Amino acid sequence: MKLAPLARLPEILFAIGKAIGSDDSLPNTLATISQLVTESTGANACSVMLADEGRQFLLGKAAYGLARADISEVSFGFGEGVAGWVAENAEGTVIDDVTVDPRFTIHGDSDSHIHSMACVPLLYRENVVGVLTVTSSDPASFSADTLVLMQLIANTIALDIENIRLRRISVTDKLTGAFNREFLDSQLPASLADCKTRREPLSLIMFDVDHFKKVNDTYGHGVGDQVLRTLAHRLRESSRDRDMLVRYGGEEFLLLLPGANLETAIEIANRMRIQLQDNPICAGERALEIRVSAGVAEHNDAETPEAFFGRVDEALYTAKRTGRNRVVAG
Ligand code: GH3
Ligand code: MG
Ligand code: MG
Repeated sequence: MKLAPLARLPEILFAIGKAIGSDDSLPNTLATISQLVTESTGANACSVMLADEGRQFLLGKAAYGLARADISEVSFGFGEGVAGWVAENAEGTVIDDVTVDPRFTIHGDSDSHIHSMACVPLLYRENVVGVLTVTSSDPASFSADTLVLMQLIANTIALDIENIRLRRISVTDKLTGAFNREFLDSQLPASLADCKTRREPLSLIMFDVDHFKKVNDTYGHGVGDQVLRTLAHRLRESSRDRDMLVRYGGEEFLLLLPGANLETAIEIANRMRIQLQDNPICAGERALEIRVSAGVAEHNDAETPEAFFGRVDEALYTAKRTGRNRVVAG
């Protein structure tokens, strides 16, 4: 049996603190932590699952060393499998041989080589917000020391994960998951300064759904909401990591494009407009043909954020006035 290197704890906690303090996204931070935990426990793999809002399910968020390609496909109900047992009981466990433990459930072929494991809860104010799991293809790879080490790590990261999550909730729009307007206001000066330092252009697209009121009036507010959710999802899917999608108003979305000049921004806006035009949005049993108009502008160094927004707004207004379902540059 390998002993968990508790002596390395300060070093590991320091590395985890550094990962959490970085500007990286939550999935990337958790992936870094998974790697650190794998290496420090002598495991083959480590995964982090977080509880959903209703605390009924654990959803895979990040992993290191897993045979499975996509951790986001892994989910356990509270009470289901070892992870679900740990979540339900708010208690860690070490299993020397999973084949004789009734709690262990196989979730596809990639789990079949697991022989031993250790799993601890992520606790925040006595609520289970997730679980941290390590696995090995060898039997009895983990000791009581591993569990102590993992629980210390879990206690450290649970608070930070929750803080990251709360911060995210406060800056996003609940319906669509896009950033909210307050967050844009707080971020825009930094984005403008950043692009200026890098001598990069920065462009902005403002989308507005055409005749959206008719969707609500014809099919009801619920269908309207579904359209907005899908629309935001599509806009985000087809944008780059650096871009920022903001719900600016009811059915108005902004896409902030650092590094994109006017020509590229027009191209992007048109690609998104055509993607929407060619692919109706499904809401219930209906397929709705949604059209958008867009105003686009590239920031020029001399203008204030207000003047920049004014130009985009004016361009959008022109797109509406001249027939809709089009992109106009400001
Ligand atoms: P135009 O082509 O000129 O943009 O017409 P429009 O009907 O899209 O524009 P208008 O500004 O008249 O209507 C916007 C509608 O968006 C009215 C409002 O009820 C609806 N809306 C705003 N927020 C939400 C929301 O969160 N959910 C739903 N379902 N509808 C919303
Ligand atoms: Mg509008
Ligand atoms: Mg509209």
